[in-house]
Amino acid sequence: MPDLDALTIHESAALLRRREVSSRELAQAALDRIAAVDGRVRAFLTLTADQALAQAAAADRRLAQDEAGELLGVPVAIKDVLVTKGVRTTCGSKMLEGFVAPYEATVVRRLFDAGAVMVGKTNMDEFAMGSSTENSAYFTTRNPWDLSRVPGGSSGGSAAAVAAGEATYALGSDTGGSIRQPAALCGVVGMKPTYGRVSRYGLVAFASSLDQVGPFTRDVRDTATVLNAICGHDPCDATSAPGETPDFTAQLEAGVRGLRVGVPKEYMPADLHPGVRACVEDAIAALEAQGAAVDRDVALPSTKAALAVYYIIAPSEASANLARYDGVKYGFSYQQGEGMWDNMEKTRGLGFGPEVKRRIMIGTYALSSGYYDAYYLKAQKVRTIIRREFDAAFEKYDVLVAPVTPTPAFRIGEKTGDPYEMYLNDVFTLPVNIAGLPGISVPCGFVADGPSGDELPVGLQIIGKPFDEATVLRAARAYEATASWAARRPPL
Ligand code: GLN
Repeated sequence: MPDLDALTIHESAALLRRREVSSRELAQAALDRIAAVDGRVRAFLTLTADQALAQAAAADRRLAQDEAGELLGVPVAIKDVLVTKGVRTTCGSKMLEGFVAPYEATVVRRLFDAGAVMVGKTNMDEFAMGSSTENSAYFTTRNPWDLSRVPGGSSGGSAAAVAAGEATYALGSDTGGSIRQPAALCGVVGMKPTYGRVSRYGLVAFASSLDQVGPFTRDVRDTATVLNAICGHDPCDATSAPGETPDFTAQLEAGVRGLRVGVPKEYMPADLHPGVRACVEDAIAALEAQGAAVDRDVALPSTKAALAVYYIIAPSEASANLARYDGVKYGFSYQQGEGMWDNMEKTRGLGFGPEVKRRIMIGTYALSSGYYDAYYLKAQKVRTIIRREFDAAFEKYDVLVAPVTPTPAFRIGEKTGDPYEMYLNDVFTLPVNIAGLPGISVPCGFVADGPSGDELPVGLQIIGKPFDEATVLRAARAYEATASWAARRPPL
């Protein structure tokens, strides 16, 4: 019997088809693995064992009727930012501690229709604001490669769950790096699709012009498979793109011969962690050896403004989106105050954590009438410049490659004292959201970091043209085929 908690989706599907394993056995193996390791990893906010076993039984019935489908009967973990009918959705916040949505997020419904088996909802930074899960109102998830380090964030629970073998794949959301960064730090594949590619219906809103849902998987083929299931127009999301979605698995093995690859200089700064640099350089050389035409001298000069632009636009949108948590409509509600305004103030004062309050204050300030032009409007103008620089680069290159993060996983508590230090972890990921582009993180090696010499994973970022996920996946697969990082498992 193969090791069930190390399987990819396609390996699981093959075993299920050949009746060598049942969906019930896969679900039970995931639940057993969670029981064995999650006390240490702490990836899950809510476990849904009963629902998982019921979904697995239903999947086994569909399989018995020879129904095929890659996701049919395979265990998945869902970031707690996506609403699930009948299962609480906390968004990592006390504000939504007891919140049970009356409907399913479109992406979750699509997975369930395809026969997915949900084992639980994963931990995250409160309202997806953070890079380490340390902003979760509940607890911090730990990096399966070194339990004293963060898994990244905000989708740290989803990344850790896949890395630790607690689910075969997971969904997360990425507003400024929240899929790619934790994927890199946990050594799994994570992809943010093009803005508009995936429905945001049922995704609790952080920054609506930046948010996008995407998968965490153990290999690139699985990412393509999950994208096939979750992408596509949704009438419930006005920003979801119309038109057909391609089969993302079709071009996967086509290789990179002749592919034009650009390496932006701004993403390889002098102070980049030397181990990260070495892994990324090796990965670029591997693409070159496969026949890609690599140019290491691409300029995206406005990259240096991206962090500032993001930290005006994202908090501005957040301040508007989070106005709905007033203790009246849903979620936590303080009732012992002196009247309505006092109750509302105390609801927000007690329900939100410090980082969320910081974002609301920054955003409210940037949008206020006296400062709107100086901050919000200016940030929007620079956003356009950043997007145009990418557009110009994509006239010459098919994909851009870069590191995902400036360092490997940092220690728990290392950056909590200085929000700016924490924000800096996303310098290489958030420009991609600002421009609405697709981006993937694929494991590209391990580095020894710190006195303990722990082996920590590093991620390679591949960025593509809008709606050209197929080329991003093809390049990621070509690299993955040259490296065997996926075979390594964390020492849990
Ligand atoms: N770490 C970034 C932030 O705190 C990005 C978060 C995300 O992508 N959701 O805003």
